[in-house]
Parts: sequence; structure tokens; C-alpha cells
Amino acid sequence: MSSKTSSQNQEGAVHSTWQLYKRLLGYARPYWVAFVASFIGFAIYGATQAWSARWLEQVVNAVQAGELDQRGMLALTVLVIFALRGIGTFIGTYTISHVARQVVHALRTDLFDRMLTLPSSYYQRTASGELLAKLTYNVEQVTGAVTNAIKTGLREGLTVVGLMGYLLYLNWKLTLVFVLAAPFIGIVVTIASKRMRMLSRRLQKSVGDITSSASESIKGYQVVRIFGGTQQERQRFHKASDNNRRQMMKMVVTQSLNTPIVQFIIAMALAGLLFIAMHPSVMGTMTTGGFVAFLTAAGLITKPLRQLTEISSIIQKGVAAAESIFDVMDQPAERDSGERNAKGVSGDLRFEQVRFTYPGQDTPALKGISLDIPSGSTVALVGRSGSGKSTLAAMLPRFNDGWEGNILLDGVSLNDYSLLSLREQIALVNQHVVLFNGTLADNIAYGAMAGASREAIMAAAEAAHVTEFLDRLENGLDTMIGEDGVMLSGGQRQRIAIARAILKDAPLLILDEATSALDTESERHIQAALESVVKGRTTLVIAHRLSTIEKADMIVVMDDGEIIEKGSHQELLAKEGAYASFRVQQEAGGA
Ligand code: ADP
Ligand code: MG
Repeated sequence: MSSKTSSQNQEGAVHSTWQLYKRLLGYARPYWVAFVASFIGFAIYGATQAWSARWLEQVVNAVQAGELDQRGMLALTVLVIFALRGIGTFIGTYTISHVARQVVHALRTDLFDRMLTLPSSYYQRTASGELLAKLTYNVEQVTGAVTNAIKTGLREGLTVVGLMGYLLYLNWKLTLVFVLAAPFIGIVVTIASKRMRMLSRRLQKSVGDITSSASESIKGYQVVRIFGGTQQERQRFHKASDNNRRQMMKMVVTQSLNTPIVQFIIAMALAGLLFIAMHPSVMGTMTTGGFVAFLTAAGLITKPLRQLTEISSIIQKGVAAAESIFDVMDQPAERDSGERNAKGVSGDLRFEQVRFTYPGQDTPALKGISLDIPSGSTVALVGRSGSGKSTLAAMLPRFNDGWEGNILLDGVSLNDYSLLSLREQIALVNQHVVLFNGTLADNIAYGAMAGASREAIMAAAEAAHVTEFLDRLENGLDTMIGEDGVMLSGGQRQRIAIARAILKDAPLLILDEATSALDTESERHIQAALESVVKGRTTLVIAHRLSTIEKADMIVVMDDGEIIEKGSHQELLAKEGAYASFRVQQEAGGA
């Protein structure tokens, strides 16, 4: 079903890792206070670790020296250590999670905001499931990375610092043995992180595939069932899910190999340490308590040290996710360089040698269209499907950018108007009616019309013959019509879309097969409404049934991206050309 290419194919290279970090950190910067609090919390935690080794030293020394009266103080110390550790952990975890959740929220909303400004060409080449996966899964991956990496980094890092400090204080020469292990650990960590980054990208891609596959099967369930696509869709989904499982397992392997290998390197350091430490010449210089504490601290350090080595992998996951998010954010938005306000335009339209080719297409969809549409007139576009009617109509709101030639509105190039103000002047109804999860009234007074009065909404509903089926709905205009208006018929949906366009009351009106889903009876009714609506505004109407077209001021017949005939109904009939034969065919068909 999806022939769209994945934008994630162009992985990597776009951003250097360092730029990515800086950009991500930019998101966390406003929360530096919470960050400092987190640092303090985890510093307390780390200090208690060192303190517990020190405590052990005191216990052993006290036992050895027979100073048993210290037991009260030593017992109390345990409680203090754990209470502090608990407080430190809470403060550290809470504040860092606060930062991480804020970062996700900011990333997610920034990403969504960018999506709202992307040109239609981006939507046409990207599977919607992939974008959804970015908004949900990838963004979470970033937080996971940020939270875990920072939490682990701070907590374990500070613990290592505390314990290391204590070890150095006890016996700095011995401690250096540990440092010898560092380069070996470094090698393992580097290999593992590289692999994690690559696997994370694949994992994200697989989540995108899962989302796409699922959303297409869900939306198109009827087609899937009728055309026997069940097996195919099942296979596709199973394959995507299995791919996801495999990437996940590869990650697990990487991580689970990383851990024991690092652990073993640390163990070797520890063994060397013990071997040297128990040498008589070294033993002699330490107290028993000091010796026990040294080994304890060295043992305690292994876990945080190992966890520190996992951070890099965790970060790689986040970075790979951030990369794919920033990739969308860096897509150029719709071109909007015009500064003129289109408010108050009369609706005088002029196409001058307009050529347009869809991105990635070889043949142009419009091949030099020249057309004058005086303000207030109605122009009907007729022609075979694929002749370029919708493409031409979609030029006005500038959905198809990058044309050659000129399109002038009131003598000014469309590009010189700001997109927002230009689109404010246009009402559009097309074949594919989009309804939102909300009430019927909300759907008519959608977007900028949200403040419309009840009377105005009712009047629009009346004109579009929405009122006809209103009685059958539970709460009239206040009926929730469900996601994408699933409980309405095609004709009902179209009438709502027409009511929306009527309510907008814009100087330019585009009706692209706006009545195609209506039966002849309803269409006749709406026809009357539309006739009064088109008065006083420039209207482009694309319709198949000729009755809609006959009253147009001008009929433009298109074929293969070109205008082959134009004139009034009478003129074109007299000409006995394409339009006339078209009409003959229709009458024979009984329409
Ligand atoms: P009509 O509305 O007259 O049926 P269209 O304007 O929709 O025709 O299409 C004109 C031509 O442009 C067709 O050949 C169609 O395949 C092509 N086309 C339409 N939309 C796109 C698109 N998004 N990407 C590439 N080609 C397109
Ligand atoms: Mg069309």
C-alpha cells in the first residue's frame, strides 16, 4: 500500500554528533535550576556510598580496638547514611525527571508545530505512520536517554567520584591499578555505542513500519477484508513486528555483552588490586579497617563503574532518535515570504502561462495555463480525470508551490501575499471531506470561525441542507460526530463541508467535486443554495454533472494539463467540440 519513501533512509551525516548534543542540551538549558538540584541530590547519594565504606572502616577498627561503646554512634550512623541516601535519590530522580519530561514536551510540540507548517509535498512523500511514530516513540526514546543517561551519569558518576576519592585517600598508589583498566573499558564502550546508534536507527524505522502498517489496515479495514488483503496485511504487520523484535534482540545482545565484558575487565583490575594489596610490604602500611574498607570501596565501585559504561549506549539511542526528530524539524517550511495582506481582495484572478510539475514527476501536470477570471465570476473546470483540474484549483491556496509563469490575484502575484491572509480569502470543498472529532457545530465553525454565532452556523447549515438530517441526530448541531465523522454518509459529510465553506464567506470559493457524493435530489437542493453562495465571489467549480456547470459564466475544458476549449455553455455547444461530445455522452448515460 505504501510506496512512499522513508525519510529515515537518509540517516546520519546530516548532523555531527556534537551538534546534536548541543541542540538537545539547548532544550534542557531552561531547566538548569532543576538540573543543579538533581546534581546536589545525586552528590548526596554518592557521598553516602563513600561514607558507608568509611563507616565499615570505623566498625572494623572499633572491633579490633575493643571500643565497643561506640556501637550506639555506629548504629545511628547507618540510619543517617540511609536516610540521606533516600533523600538524595528522591531529589535527584524527581528533578531530573522533571527536566526530561519538559524536554520531551518541548521536543514533541516543536516537532508537531513544524509538521503544521510543512509543505504538502512533504506529506505526499512521507508515510503518516512514520510521522506518528516520530511524535510518539522517537520522542520518548530521547527522554529515556536523557533521563537515564543523566540520572545514571550523575548518580553513578558522583558515586564513582566519591569512592575514588576515598580510595585515593586510603592508598593512592593502589588506586592507580584501577586506572590501568580504563583504556580497555573505553574500547569496549566505543564499539558498543557505535553499534547501539546504528541499531536504534533501525529500531525506530521498524516502529515507523509497524505504525504505518497498522494505521493503513485500520483505516482501510473494509478494503482489506473485501479484497482479500487480510493475509497480505497480516504478513506485512508480522514482518514489521518481527523486524522490530530482531533489532531489539540485537540491542539486547550488544548491551548484555557490553556489561559482562566490562565487568570482567573491572574484575581483573580488582584481582590485580587484591594481589598487590596483600603483598606484605603494602599490608604493613594499612590498618585492618583501612584494608577492609579499601576492598569494600573497590568492590562498591564496580557496579557504578559498569553502569557508567552503559550510559554511552543509552545516549546513542537518544541521539539516534533526536537525529530523526531534528531531521523533520529542519525540513523547510512552506514558503511564505510574501508580506501583502490579501484582506479585502475583490477576487480577480489571472493565470499567465502557468506550468507546474509535481516534485519527482517527469511530465508537468499543468502545461502553460492562461486564464482570466474576473472577480465575482464562476468558472467551471471540466475534463477527464487526471487532466489537471484539481491541480489548477490547488494553486490558489498555494498548496502546489514551485510553478512557472504568473498567478495574479487582484493584479498581485500570489507569492506576494502572506500565506495566512491568502488562505483566509479562500473557502474550499473537495471530494475528500475532512471532519474532526467534535460536534457538528464545531465542524462547521471550524478553526478561525470557532467564534461564529449560533445563528450564523444555523444559517450555513440551512443553506447546505445539513438541517435535513439534523432531526435524525440525537443532539442536533451538538451531536458528536466521531473521529472523521464515521457515522455519517458521504453525502451528509459533504453537506457539512459545504456549510463550512458557506460560513467562511470568503471572496474565493473552490468547489472540487463538492457535490459528487450527493444524490441528484439533494444536489438539486444544494444547487440552489450554491447559486446564491457563488454570487459576489469568484468561484472555481469542478463537477462531473453538467447541470452544475451550465450556469457558469465560463466553462474551461481541460485535457492533459492544457486548456482545450473555453466559453459559455451555449458557445461551447455551438462549437460542437470536446464539451459538446462530453455532453452527448452524459445524456446518453442518463445523468
Ligand atoms: P483531475 O483533478 O483533473 O482529475 P489532477 O489535477 O488531480 O487531475 O491530476 C493531474 C495530474 O497530476 C495527474 O496525472 C495526476 O496523476 C498527477 N498528480 C496529481 N496529484 C499528484 C501528486 N501529489 N503527485 C504527483 N502527481 C500528481
Ligand atoms: Mg480532481
